[in-house]
Amino acid sequence: MAWDFATDDAYQAQLDWVDRFMREEIEPLDHVLGHPCDVRDPRRNALVRPLQAQVRERGLWACHLGPELGGQGYGQVKLALLNEILGRSRFGPTVFGCQAPDSGNAEILAHYGTPEQKRRFLQPLLDNEIVSCFAMTEPQGGADPKVFKTRAVRDGDEWVLSGQKWFASHASFAEFLIVMAVTDPDAPPYKTMSMFIVPTNTPGLRVIRNSGFPTETVPTHGYLEFDGARVPADHMLGGRGEAFVVAQTRLGGGRIHHAMRTIGEARRALDMMCERALSRRTQGERLADKQMVQERLADSWIELEQFRLLVLRTAWLIDRHKDYKKVRKDISAVKAAMPKVLHDIASRALLLHGSIGISEEMPFAHLVMQSYHVALADGPVEVHKATLAKQMLRDYKPTEALFPDYHVPSQRERALARFRDALAHIDESV
Ligand SMILES: Cc1cc2nc3c(=O)[nH]c(=O)nc-3n(C[C@H](O)[C@H](O)[C@H](O)COP(=O)(O)OP(=O)(O)OC[C@H]3O[C@@H](n4cnc5c(N)ncnc54)[C@H](O)[C@@H]3O)c2cc1C
Repeated sequence: MAWDFATDDAYQAQLDWVDRFMREEIEPLDHVLGHPCDVRDPRRNALVRPLQAQVRERGLWACHLGPELGGQGYGQVKLALLNEILGRSRFGPTVFGCQAPDSGNAEILAHYGTPEQKRRFLQPLLDNEIVSCFAMTEPQGGADPKVFKTRAVRDGDEWVLSGQKWFASHASFAEFLIVMAVTDPDAPPYKTMSMFIVPTNTPGLRVIRNSGFPTETVPTHGYLEFDGARVPADHMLGGRGEAFVVAQTRLGGGRIHHAMRTIGEARRALDMMCERALSRRTQGERLADKQMVQERLADSWIELEQFRLLVLRTAWLIDRHKDYKKVRKDISAVKAAMPKVLHDIASRALLLHGSIGISEEMPFAHLVMQSYHVALADGPVEVHKATLAKQMLRDYKPTEALFPDYHVPSQRERALARFRDALAHIDESV
């Protein structure tokens, strides 16, 4: 029987190194640098590049990818154990070559890209010489892809794109965008769109503005306009009408990887709660000695461990099935559970730190905002809860006896009928 929570010694030694490296070398970067994806920032490059070299030497670069792309092909469970440490710092994923959205974009380029697309876009992306952006959401809605209007029309050897994209993260740093556009409006609903690689210096592509949420240091979510932007015909990624299939390839992985990093964010907040509870004194005793504080610590630990087990189990299922579609229900459950865990733990940590907790000197206000980020990005929680419930009901097998007019009293009557004689017999004999 295989049911094991242990990590093998060799990998644990790697994780221990990562944990030390994160705390000593990477977490401090959060306080002195701007955005981890700003590859044009010389200060960022001077501090981040040598750390990336150490990660490569250690054999831990881009572990989400297979060896043919310079990664380790670790699989999702090992990746979860790594990512939950990297999530402690904004710079962790970048230093280890597995930052979103580049990680998902690299996966689809590796999977669907032509040799020329891989040479031009994938290799520099894997080397973190450039960064990328995934532009799917439109101003009129993100949760329902059927409302997307951005068009791509074939004109000779080119595709001509027109329309708008909204909240395209890291658009301002990106060398290229991966854009979903309608190519075949009359096709069946999930065959209408195709995916395109659009270099950001393409004439006709304009940044209307960059948006951000209040705790972000730099607004990076692009509101973009395509006004007759032309790309060569060979910039289509995947087949014509296959955008939904390509998108799902990256979104399944993207959601579970976000969840792994969220464990790291929540654990950092919990560590800081412990530090505060043990060091701050009020009314003659430590915060740690107050029962309401103890309850908050205990609730936080329980919620985080429950969530972590759900994430690890889902990672294990992905490794087992090697197909995100077969684990859709579990990924939706992880996605739906994630915001509340982060929100509640970060809020308790904020309160426990008092006034400094709410200030920009501490990470908690940002982590609370992050909980809304993970609630919305890659599809709102409500949509994932609906997916989960539909899949549960699809997989549930009603017993003939309960169907079609199930009601609890009838269950009781059947149970009484079944045991009536046996119980009567026992009653007679005592
Ligand atoms: C930080 C961040 C980063 C993002 N990065 C990117 C990116 O890089 N690329 C990209 O393409 N997009 C990105 N997005 C956009 C994201 O995918 C959308 O915000 C999301 O899909 C929701 O779309 P919307 O914002 O248009 O909200 P809407 O679709 O208008 O939904 C608004 C709200 O309505 C409710 N709702 C919607 N549908 C349902 C339903 N079926 N049942 C019940 N309630 C529902 C939910 O409360 C939902 O939050 C990002 C978003 C955020 C917040």
